[in-house]
Amino acid sequence: MSDVQILASVQQFMARQHGHFIQGEWVKAASSERIHIINPATEQSVATIAVATKQEVEAAVQSAEQAFHTVWANTSPYERGQKLLKLADLVEQHAEEFAQLESLTTGKLIQLSRHLEVAQTIVFLRYFAGWATKIHGQTMTPSIPSMQGEQYTAYTMRQAIGVIAGIVPWNFSLMIGCWKIGSALTTGCTIVLKPSEFTTLSLLRLAELAIEAGIPAGVINVVTGAGQTGQYLIDAKKIKKVSFTGSVATGIAIGQRAMCNDLTRVSLELGGKNAAAICADADIDALLPTLLQATFVHQGQVCAAPERFFVHQSKYDEFIEKITVAMQQIKMGSPLDESTMFGPLSNKVHFEKVKQYLEMAQNKQQVICGGKVHAGTGYFVEPTLLKVTSVEDPLFMEETFGPVVSVITFEHDEELISMMNHSRFGLTASIWTNDLAKALRLIPKIEAGSVWVNMHTFLDPAVPFGGVKASGLGREFSDAFIEDYTELKSVMIRY
Ligand code: NDP
Repeated sequence: MSDVQILASVQQFMARQHGHFIQGEWVKAASSERIHIINPATEQSVATIAVATKQEVEAAVQSAEQAFHTVWANTSPYERGQKLLKLADLVEQHAEEFAQLESLTTGKLIQLSRHLEVAQTIVFLRYFAGWATKIHGQTMTPSIPSMQGEQYTAYTMRQAIGVIAGIVPWNFSLMIGCWKIGSALTTGCTIVLKPSEFTTLSLLRLAELAIEAGIPAGVINVVTGAGQTGQYLIDAKKIKKVSFTGSVATGIAIGQRAMCNDLTRVSLELGGKNAAAICADADIDALLPTLLQATFVHQGQVCAAPERFFVHQSKYDEFIEKITVAMQQIKMGSPLDESTMFGPLSNKVHFEKVKQYLEMAQNKQQVICGGKVHAGTGYFVEPTLLKVTSVEDPLFMEETFGPVVSVITFEHDEELISMMNHSRFGLTASIWTNDLAKALRLIPKIEAGSVWVNMHTFLDPAVPFGGVKASGLGREFSDAFIEDYTELKSVMIRY
């Protein structure tokens, strides 16, 4: 097979001298500094982006603040929902364009870009659109004593908090960007997005389409850059909430800074070292395709994906034998080739980080399968399985955020739970068993925001998502996000 044909519209978009998207239009960058967007499969520059100055970031926040007060707050919930639906329609019409932009800049397989990133972006936008008309308060009957026949009633209302700062990571820039856009716009907030400097293009394209969808100028703004752009954004006075997805260290730094900025709200979706427990009764042949897909989707660069396998000792030999055979069949290649099963890591910085973990594993002779770095062009590493004998092993403690998974055995459930919870992270976990009673007994004991049974790495807009411990703060999706984007106002009336 060969690479898909790059659309003329994609080539034209990449060739543009992109500025920032503020107040519904392109703003030429004040600084001449440019960042190259690198295709991780070829190591070639495919586009450049601007680096925002403090003044440009503040102009974007000012635009969002103005749009919040003058337009978006006066737009009816129904209208807000309709405009998000229209945006989803436009993403659908331009689906191949978005898929190619994502694959060219992130190394994501073209089939994954099409069928997960872009397809799910549309699903999530439509889901969020539905919430616009369903956000409401409650009525209460106060118990204040009535002295002279007066009566009291009370109610609550949910009001949009204002301008959101959305800091978007590089692994699923379009989809995660749209989680932030959808949450903000449906609740009546406006947003300034700061995409990752590695994968900026699809959100810039989306901002243009938002205007076509009838979303008023200033409701969605995008500023680009690296180094200080994120900090300029969260320091801007009118930011009411920061929604960040990324590493634990940066999340904590952002949280501290936001608290100092007059208690700006934060929601943090951070890393994980997620556990998958394969129980004694599990059918290895039946679970392997699903487990492998969940583990190595987008080369393991998924915060929810498993990186720690706990295998019951009675199943260990069978598991290792069968997973090794299956992993050796994973075909690595160009992400733009529809037959490729495994692409490159998304950027050089991340590639160097994963390489260090692989070297550590090689030195300690822990590699069961994979472990090698591709010698040629591109940020390719093999899907890798490592054996560990202690839960204190750094390879079992630290998030690689790559296609590197470690395996350990367990004998009984108490030991399993104790080992699974021996982590600073708590994003996701899975149990692989046909014994429903066992699963139901284990689930409450697992320290994780999401627990799956016989599946892993599946997100659905109807199901809340977020981490416990160092994996995050707050929840996305379902009705759980509403509290983060709205202020609850209490009203009491004497009559
Ligand atoms: P980071 O977690 O460091 O986040 C980078 C983003 O945060 C950039 O947009 C950056 O913008 C912004 N930022 C950094 N510091 C601040 C600050 N003090 N205030 C405001 N914004 C700030 O991600 P990396 O891309 O460096 O990836 C590092 C690791 O993060 C990966 O190896 C992986 O482990 C993890 N990760 C987790 C993801 C997840 O889904 N949970 C997704 C992607 C990565 P600027 O430079 O302009 O400040």
